[in-house]
Amino acid sequence: MKIGILGSGQLGRMLALAGYPLGHTFTFFDTAPNSATSDLGATTLATFDDHTALGVFAAACDVVTYEFENVPYQAALTINAQVPVYPPARALKVSQDRVIEKEFLQGLGIATPAFLAVSSEAELHAACLTLGTPCIVKTRRLGYDGKGQVRINSQGDIAGAWRELSGAPLIVEGFIPFTRELSVIAVRSIDGTVLTYPLVQNVHRSGILHRSETPAPEVAQKLEAAAYQIAATVLQELQYVGVIAIELFDVDGELLVNELAPRVHNSGHATIDGVITSQFENHIRAITGTALGSIEPRSRSVMYNLVGTLPDLSRLTALPNAKLHLYGKEPRAGRKLGHVTLLNPSQRDEQTLEQLLGGVSVAVVNPTS
Ligand code: AMP
Repeated sequence: MKIGILGSGQLGRMLALAGYPLGHTFTFFDTAPNSATSDLGATTLATFDDHTALGVFAAACDVVTYEFENVPYQAALTINAQVPVYPPARALKVSQDRVIEKEFLQGLGIATPAFLAVSSEAELHAACLTLGTPCIVKTRRLGYDGKGQVRINSQGDIAGAWRELSGAPLIVEGFIPFTRELSVIAVRSIDGTVLTYPLVQNVHRSGILHRSETPAPEVAQKLEAAAYQIAATVLQELQYVGVIAIELFDVDGELLVNELAPRVHNSGHATIDGVITSQFENHIRAITGTALGSIEPRSRSVMYNLVGTLPDLSRLTALPNAKLHLYGKEPRAGRKLGHVTLLNPSQRDEQTLEQLLGGVSVAVVNPTS
């Protein structure tokens, strides 16, 4: 099939790399050129409100998907009038705005951090009183990798947070003293089959995902069942097709949903090497109406993001159980340039890798604390 991808970054790259062996071809739509996908298919360069360009793009595709959740809802509807867009456009609407997202989840009986929408400094003061401090104020839309959010430790922080974030609609969330961060990655096919990958345990640094371990250690059956139930409920409600990632806070064995990502997800990258069918391949299978592939793990795996600058790659690839993935992007502070997955790593392997990455070994920490 001819598959169109809205967005042309590394997730689009890994989707195409998974889809070519299945006989599909790819074309991308983005607002700026991106080296991550430039060798994998043509890119239409236009804005997402250029409905003529969207129509021409759709006409060249059998099915269209997206690699980021900030694709405007109207753009997805325009394309969907011509060819199917998967995941469904409603998944964009729900996940683009943190308030709508939390209302959607709570409406399904799924727990989230307590929250209040605010649109003035007075409302921010009131929200901080109601929710208590510490709390976190975030932009409702367009936040990612910890951007667009400020922690408020006391009433004295409010004016500064307002100066930094005002101008955009905001949400205030109660601060969750989580034990750890987990994610669940699930896929739903057009016929409604749902598969759920083993839970992933995630550690962030400076708001950016640093390390993902699969399967998450010491997961009680009850916790796993709760995570799978959350995924099944959300997928069913959205009549979803494709891969979804759900970010979770584990608070002493109780799960709260932090956010939904209606797309393949960074915390699922280890599925490329560590699972029989990766999240990327299963997303392509789902949106093309093909049977889903086995999600049987091949090994325990630990993924590290390569952010900002690349380490000594010859030493990294000399680690026999390290699988390197580079995205073809120029180094820049805070930019995800690639990732490496260690298969069945020993503690020593992990220490070697952490040293190569120039960091110290990190336990489970709350990055905003
Ligand atoms: P987000 O962009 O909402 O995924 O937030 C980025 C990171 O900030 C999360 O992965 C958490 O580590 C932390 N964080 C976000 N919201 C909260 C919260 N309500 N309580 C505690 N930590 C949070």
